[in-house]
Amino acid sequence: MKRLSPILTLLLTIASTCQAAFAQLPLAKRQSNNSEYNLYRWKPYRKQVVKPAEVLGYEIGERNSNFREQERVLLAVAESAKDRVHVIEYGKSVEGRPLRLVIVTAPENLAKLEKIQANNLLLADPRKITSPAEAERLLAATPAITWINHCIHGDETASFEAFMGTLYTLAASDAPEVKDTLKNSVVILNPAFNPDGHERFAVYYNSIALGSPEGDAFEQGQPWAVSGRFNHYRFDMNRDKMVQSQAEVQQEIAAYLKWYPHVYVDEHGQPETYFFPPNPEAIHTGVDVGRLNKWTGIFGRANAATFDKFGWQHVTKEDFDFFYPGYLDTWATFAGAIGMTYETDGGRTLARRRRDDTVSTLWDATVHHVETALATVLTAGKRRQELVRDFWQYRKSALNPQLMRMVVFPPQDRARLAEVVRVLQRSGVEVQVAGKPFESQNAHDYTTLNALGMKRSFPAGSLTIDLAQPQGYLAKAFLEPDPKFSPAFLKDQQERRTRNEKRNANEAHEGYTFYDITAWALPYSFGMEAYWLEDAPKSDSKLLQGKEGEEQLTAGVKGGVVGEKTGVAYLIPYDSDATVWFAIRLTQMGYRLEVANKPFQADGKAWARGTFIVRVNRNPNDLREKLDALGRVLGVSVFAIHSSYAEDTGIGSDSVSIVNAPSIAVVVGDNVSQTSYGAVWYLLEKKAGAKFTPIRIGRLAGLELARFNVLIFPDGGGYGGVLGKAGTDKLRDWVQKGGVLIGLEGGAQWLTEKEVNFSEVKAVGEEGGKKPLEIPGAFFKAKIDTSHFLGYGYLKEEIAVPVMGGTFWKPTKKGSNVVRFGKDKMRISGFVWDGNTEELLADTAYIVSEPIGRGNAILFLNDPTFRVLWVGVHRMFWNAILLGSGARGASEAN
Ligand SMILES: [Zn+2]
Repeated sequence: MKRLSPILTLLLTIASTCQAAFAQLPLAKRQSNNSEYNLYRWKPYRKQVVKPAEVLGYEIGERNSNFREQERVLLAVAESAKDRVHVIEYGKSVEGRPLRLVIVTAPENLAKLEKIQANNLLLADPRKITSPAEAERLLAATPAITWINHCIHGDETASFEAFMGTLYTLAASDAPEVKDTLKNSVVILNPAFNPDGHERFAVYYNSIALGSPEGDAFEQGQPWAVSGRFNHYRFDMNRDKMVQSQAEVQQEIAAYLKWYPHVYVDEHGQPETYFFPPNPEAIHTGVDVGRLNKWTGIFGRANAATFDKFGWQHVTKEDFDFFYPGYLDTWATFAGAIGMTYETDGGRTLARRRRDDTVSTLWDATVHHVETALATVLTAGKRRQELVRDFWQYRKSALNPQLMRMVVFPPQDRARLAEVVRVLQRSGVEVQVAGKPFESQNAHDYTTLNALGMKRSFPAGSLTIDLAQPQGYLAKAFLEPDPKFSPAFLKDQQERRTRNEKRNANEAHEGYTFYDITAWALPYSFGMEAYWLEDAPKSDSKLLQGKEGEEQLTAGVKGGVVGEKTGVAYLIPYDSDATVWFAIRLTQMGYRLEVANKPFQADGKAWARGTFIVRVNRNPNDLREKLDALGRVLGVSVFAIHSSYAEDTGIGSDSVSIVNAPSIAVVVGDNVSQTSYGAVWYLLEKKAGAKFTPIRIGRLAGLELARFNVLIFPDGGGYGGVLGKAGTDKLRDWVQKGGVLIGLEGGAQWLTEKEVNFSEVKAVGEEGGKKPLEIPGAFFKAKIDTSHFLGYGYLKEEIAVPVMGGTFWKPTKKGSNVVRFGKDKMRISGFVWDGNTEELLADTAYIVSEPIGRGNAILFLNDPTFRVLWVGVHRMFWNAILLGSGARGASEAN
């Protein structure tokens, strides 16, 4: 009889009481042609280590386990293999599920785990290594650190199951090659990156599954609100490593930076045939392609050897993105790991029929993941020395950047700047603050494409990012103005276009193999003034870190009421994103607010257009306390004024508008993009702290719309069809009475349809002539009308805006083209089609406001909330919500 600890006995008791229930439910079958295969082939096994099946009551991969079932396995294996396994809880998901790392290594490594970790952090920061001899000593002593990540897409569940198989094998097997590899390795397993999405899917799926493989079977689909791919806020977290908006991503990166693994595998499960790298051509040229290709080749061959042994099929070089640094594999590769995406064949539902009529099952998909994980771990262990040395050399080479040496953000919007700094710091990038003014001999302005370097001075307090740092490659990927594809990839795309242009309209056309956006540099995404330098001038700079760094960063954004108690009014200049969040919250709490549509004077000072005015005698008695408290929370300064007398325009002027408290409804349901709704949800709830009501689109027609004055249609499609004429007529009536209808991308496009006609903008090429070719996502220079309420809070008329897709809008002649493109040299960053994109984008509109009666329809060509990445255009989204309802149009305000 095995000796079991009390906790283990308890876990097994719970498990055995569950087993009877499972007996009723269908199980995934094993594919017939791999009867040779045995998951338990790494003999002998240590008897004291608990097998997952003993806890689950079924074999891994036979069912979709839920979070607590996997957790019981994890804890039982860890408890029974304490000499090899160590569990770290690194955080909690949004819904409160524990996020963990399970570390497996040989007992002698486990005993000195902290030392191993510290040594590797020295290799990750070669500046701290004092001599070549010390480097050699560290290289000799450091095991390969292989990190395997499971289930970032919660409905790609084979990886969730596979974790248990990989863990058990490494914890229990006494096979010589496993024991050897554990001596040479620290294996870090993340059991579930996205437990909330997985749980949503698993509970739903288990409640309806029969095990039918047919594509049209009910169980092969997921209802809108269930869809497990995303996290709580419906973010695709495998796009979020750049902005790191989501709690799970932030906490995982913090855990990552304590380890800096040498190999980082991210397990997925979408295609029909298993994919592992090498990668296709669409690789970011900023990664050290030579090192990446060498190691993906080594791991790829090891995985392929296992697959061949059992007659399993696989592909390499398929299209998965390796360009945008927001992916887990790409991000990790920039940070020095060999980052790889493994996509298993199926493994979501119990069974799925492929196009060739064969069936893949959850069990197959699960064991395929277990085997690639083991092949990768064994290979990393075998080639430990070379792998660790390549990692260290890569980190060392980052200390010698080529052309682009430093990025400078001069002092500007402190709150926005602090956000950019946090994005960089969370990713392990060092940011400095200049102690004195300095001059660069070769500074390039971000806003001017291919501008020559010129002499330029920068004031003290400028923030600098010297790319000569161990995390320099990642910093560059986040900051470089115009990331480059390989010439071979671009040539291939051009050739596809040439062939397509020779084809007739009804002939099949070739697709392009861009996978994601092609521009994202933080200065453009966040709408910041920035420069990149070829030199690194001395500036008495100091590293921003710790409490002192945080204080320096937020200096001037303390917030609260400034000035003596007043009986007149308080003014809030619109100088940060938090200003508009402040205004939304204040009005939703029932306080009365106005906005200045013109520059004005008060207390002898000039105040800009867009300044918010709070009059004392029109508000409750606790006004000052409320303004002060909220101002401190959000870092918004509120200025008391003592006289409303003005020489010119003052606060009594009729160019001041009442701000209606936004009562917000957001459309949800089948037609709505989940990630677009998710981003709107996240921004309203987490950033603005605004209350809103999600409403199913099918309910709109029967709804008492008067309860709302703001209605947001996220990106999506088919809205007009669902609403029908009666529904759209009702919406028009509601807008006429003062509502604001905000459409984002697909949520705007339908407003331009002939039968709907909220806006008369027409797509370029719609009425004949050349049509735009789709672009994956690039930045262009545009002009913003800062006198329109949507433009309040913008100081400059020039703005960088992201454009994606193949729809451009001819300007409206009835309403306002608040953001529109000029004639030439518009591209700032990203891929465009020669002789098409810029030519057709010229003179088109990007954001349109159509006054209808007392209300407005506001149309965004592209979804400004996309991945909450495009912070630079967010303010127009906030302005639409706060100022769009019943607001007087720009022409009146003028
Ligand atoms: Zn996936």
